[in-house]
Amino acid sequence: MAEKSLPVSAQPRIVIVGGGFGGIELAKRLKNKDVQVLMLDRHNYHTFQPLLYQVATGGLEADSIAFPLRKIFKGYKNFTFRVAEVQKVIPERKILETSIGDIKYDYLVLATGSDTNFFGQKEVEHYSMAMKTIPEALNLRSMILQNMEEALIEQDAHIKDSLMNFVVVGGGPTGVELSGALAELKMHVLPNDYPELDINNMDIYLIEGSPDLLGSMSATASRKAKDFLEEMGVTVLTNVRVLGYDGKQISLSSGQSIPSKNVLWSAGVKGSIIDGISPDMLVRGGRIRVDEFNKIPSLDCIYALGDVAAMVSDEYPNGHPGVAPAAIQQGKTLAKNLLKIINNQQPEPFKYNDKGSMATVGRNKAVVDIGKIRFQGVFAWFVWMFVHLMSLVGFRNKVVTFVNWVWSYFSFDRGTRLIIRRFSRESMTEDPLAK
Ligand SMILES: Cc1cc2nc3c(=O)[nH]c(=O)nc-3n(C[C@H](O)[C@H](O)[C@H](O)COP(=O)(O)OP(=O)(O)OC[C@H]3O[C@@H](n4cnc5c(N)ncnc54)[C@H](O)[C@@H]3O)c2cc1C
Repeated sequence: MAEKSLPVSAQPRIVIVGGGFGGIELAKRLKNKDVQVLMLDRHNYHTFQPLLYQVATGGLEADSIAFPLRKIFKGYKNFTFRVAEVQKVIPERKILETSIGDIKYDYLVLATGSDTNFFGQKEVEHYSMAMKTIPEALNLRSMILQNMEEALIEQDAHIKDSLMNFVVVGGGPTGVELSGALAELKMHVLPNDYPELDINNMDIYLIEGSPDLLGSMSATASRKAKDFLEEMGVTVLTNVRVLGYDGKQISLSSGQSIPSKNVLWSAGVKGSIIDGISPDMLVRGGRIRVDEFNKIPSLDCIYALGDVAAMVSDEYPNGHPGVAPAAIQQGKTLAKNLLKIINNQQPEPFKYNDKGSMATVGRNKAVVDIGKIRFQGVFAWFVWMFVHLMSLVGFRNKVVTFVNWVWSYFSFDRGTRLIIRRFSRESMTEDPLAK
């Protein structure tokens, strides 16, 4: 298919696939330089993934954590954006196959982020819920509320149990935050909304395959997060793996089976890879191996950054952590390097500045590790809120989120528990934007 309605320019064209943290930073740093920048994304907005769990649990509206990509780049003279699903790269011809036709590039940057990894467990993938995108978070919100509504009218005690039991799989930051938010719903919101239900029958489980929660953080953070969750009534099962899930019952390696229609999967990620990137270019976690300049070694003029890329080194044998600062910092360095490469100068190797990590469990409960400094509890929670508020894209989003948080803090309420569109598995598989 021929290239449609793209500006013609004598400048080299840099195509960025993905308007996530990395892609945005890269495009911003190329503002009004002597290059033509074309960004492609399947959505017309940027998603602030760290707060997806609040959308899923009725704490925030989806549009508080999304921001239109066109608005970010308003006034950029050398920038074009198109909504497009990129399907394939043909490196020999320097062409991308996309849902809006073929697109030529001089330099290509893959900033496609990551997908949920179900480790080949097809049945688990079909029946459980992932949470990497806004449509998925909204599906999750609808499912939680729909199942509570169903529990209300269900006569069979076993089915009622399965509608009210929640199993979160994966004890990383997402799993910890999600199970904490569910525990808060159970404590403060659902008893008021569903007075006819015995909310004590709602059990929340967090399943983690390794010995500790928050494996990438310090032992203190990990222990404290577990204590916080247990205080909030979450059953934390470590060293336990999921063997199967048929939509009604989840079986665990401990021999236990839990009846649940609410299994939320946050146990793994893999690089979001397009066709044309061959399996031998991938490393552990399905990420694309790149050199210290973010270039894919065997391909001319093709780069990858952020979650989809793995810059393997002695210090980071699995690549840098899949977090927003790593993607942003790579975007910043790669912008400088692409300009240098175009001008036949020597690029500079990327150096990661680890700013620490944090996770929240619930009201007044968070854990923070910054280098050797570790703290937990109320102060950590305020630090977590401040950092996330400041990182949100868009002034309006910051204000709306701040007001929501203050309101929830004093009222113990969550204002957005709406079933705007009913969730059904069929709509999820049919609609590509449900991804
Ligand atoms: C639930 C959750 C919580 C998180 N919490 C934190 C946190 O607290 N702190 C932190 O630092 N990090 C957190 N992360 C990780 C962080 O969000 C990622 O590391 C970061 O988003 C990676 O940025 P990226 O630019 O590589 O990709 P992304 O931000 O994922 O962006 C990728 C973009 O590519 C687009 N895309 C993908 N494939 C295609 C295609 N084929 N065609 C067109 N477009 C495509 C997508 O639509 C998306 O816009 C969290 C992630 C999740 C899922």
